[in-house]
Amino acid sequence: MRRIVLASGNAGKLAEMRQILSDAGIDLVAQGELGIADADETASTFVENALIKARHAARLSGLPALGDDSGLYVDALGGAPGLISARYAGRHGDSAANIAKLLDVLHDLPDGERGAHFHCSIVLLRTPDDPAPLIAEGRWHGRILEAPRGNNGFGYDPVFFDPEHNASAAELDPAVKNRISHRGQALAKLLKLLAHSA
Ligand code: IMP
Repeated sequence: MRRIVLASGNAGKLAEMRQILSDAGIDLVAQGELGIADADETASTFVENALIKARHAARLSGLPALGDDSGLYVDALGGAPGLISARYAGRHGDSAANIAKLLDVLHDLPDGERGAHFHCSIVLLRTPDDPAPLIAEGRWHGRILEAPRGNNGFGYDPVFFDPEHNASAAELDPAVKNRISHRGQALAKLLKLLAHSA
């Protein structure tokens, strides 16, 4: 089994990615388990932030590193909260406050105008100075509900509705979310790239 460090302190992401990658024979170690703190996300694109995180974790761990940067785009808000999804309401990782702010901002907007999608960029560095990182992206389209539904997942999952499955992301079985989500799609592409790069 290969060992890769995940350049994130987000427990929800870790659980999802660990499941997907263990099916592919990869042991994902959280950077926090190795005493590595989060890198500052200073860039203005998802892919650059994912690269910054992966490089930081690869340097400090000596292991191949996976960096993930993701966020929610709401059509009616011109793509917000986007890059700042984790701290939309001010405090990093306060999902309840982020959801409350989003529902408030979208108050009274009809279903047809509540379109949104999640975006995920993933970067794999085999060494800290890997000159050819593997990069994959995924998108998951849906709309924002008027009230939270379901208890699974993390972040905005209770208010993100997938019309194809007629469920919020937090109502989906975790294995289903992993198959269809932005992160699941990006990881599936990354695993293909990895298989062809060996
Ligand atoms: P970052 O990639 O750690 O900077 O933060 C991404 C943020 O986007 C998370 O903290 C969540 O608020 C949101 N997000 C990303 N992916 C998901 C998801 O699968 N479900 C719900 N929220 C997500």
